[in-house]
Amino acid sequence: MNKTPFTTLEKLREIEKEYPTPFHIYDERGIRENAKALKEAFSWNKGYKEYFAVKATPNPFLIQILQEYGCGCDCSSMTELMMAKAVGCKGDDIMFSSNETPAEEYQYAKEIGAIINLDDITHIDFLEKAIGGIPKKISCRYNPGGVFKISNDIMDNPGDAKYGMTKEQIIEAFKILKSKGAQEFGIHAFLASNTVTNDYYPMLAKVLFELAVELKEKTGANITFINLSGGVGIPYRPDQEPNDIRAIGEGVRKVYEEVLVPAGMGDVALCTELGRFMMGPYGALVTKAVHEKHTYKEYIGCDACAANLMRPAIYGAYHHITVMGKENEPCDHVYDVVGSLCENNDKFAIDRKLPKIDMGDLLFIHDAGAHGFSMGYNYNGKLRSAEILLKEDGSYQMIRRAETPKDYFATFDCFPIYEKLLEDVDK
Ligand SMILES: *Cc1c(COP(=O)(O)O)cnc(C)c1O
Repeated sequence: MNKTPFTTLEKLREIEKEYPTPFHIYDERGIRENAKALKEAFSWNKGYKEYFAVKATPNPFLIQILQEYGCGCDCSSMTELMMAKAVGCKGDDIMFSSNETPAEEYQYAKEIGAIINLDDITHIDFLEKAIGGIPKKISCRYNPGGVFKISNDIMDNPGDAKYGMTKEQIIEAFKILKSKGAQEFGIHAFLASNTVTNDYYPMLAKVLFELAVELKEKTGANITFINLSGGVGIPYRPDQEPNDIRAIGEGVRKVYEEVLVPAGMGDVALCTELGRFMMGPYGALVTKAVHEKHTYKEYIGCDACAANLMRPAIYGAYHHITVMGKENEPCDHVYDVVGSLCENNDKFAIDRKLPKIDMGDLLFIHDAGAHGFSMGYNYNGKLRSAEILLKEDGSYQMIRRAETPKDYFATFDCFPIYEKLLEDVDK
């Protein structure tokens, strides 16, 4: 498959006049169509709800678009909870799937009525002390251990992951929670990340549904929801086949009818906590080629860096790059496309075949819509870019302004040199 940008060179040149590169841009139409398709794929399940994993793209404008399709928020920190509340999520609209959680975050989660998903059995006591009791509705996170395989492919390694409880622990946890007054139970597991196969959710569903039946038998707990969490991936590489969310929804439905319905659990609501799948393909990092360097390799230096998009630097992740306006030119050059950090892993692409790049060309770095901007950081004093929403009618809107030096210095307001730091800021 060929990866094509969701916008044109002309549009980006227009935006660039108002908001200089680099910036992240999001495609409203793509976000909407995908959210609608997800909703339809699970419409067979009466209580189905997607809790968007806020960490993937914590932008209230974008979350509000998803809310129109019935989505809530999956949060794992205080500020994510605050954002969920601010956009109007209430009670059951918020899933708090945190780990190593501070007491004050549990208190705040309780205050705003979020559903608490416990990562560990020891958190029962911790939570009870923190909020003065156990909520009536509560969820526990399961980790089956071992490696998670689909056919012969190892998808991921849950046995090596810090999250979730063992089988014995979750059974024990349900008994304890029940004795402490919990009435409605949920279970959750996240076993593999960025899966590009329609089989992941159905296989995970089988694990969780069978566990639910066992938990019901062994503890008598009233299980009302099962959370398939995140992990449905996107094709970062052009040769990858995208997931088919209809096929995934249908696959989960089959397992639901095989396992839950016969156990008298045909009214269990499903939920998901997708992040990457909801936003990944519908965001891009737009950056400009500003330097070329010919040494032992050919380098293109751009005005974005790993502080804007960290995945290539930390995981060696592939992000496809389109040189805007040169979509149909032959990829007869080989470049390392690099940022300006004083870190040699600050490379968006290594040995990438691309058309000849001229200074001033705009590079569209695909699939940066999730775990892109949000992983950004300030190393080397780099400032976070603006985020722009490309609307369905072709107009655009800034949905987060770029950071300024003043933002960067703001937390030094406790130092006598603060005024000095700001001296040249507005020049
Ligand atoms: C990261 C995360 C998600 C979202 O994962 P994606 O891969 O973006 O779908 C969902 N739930 C939890 C608990 C997570 O940590």
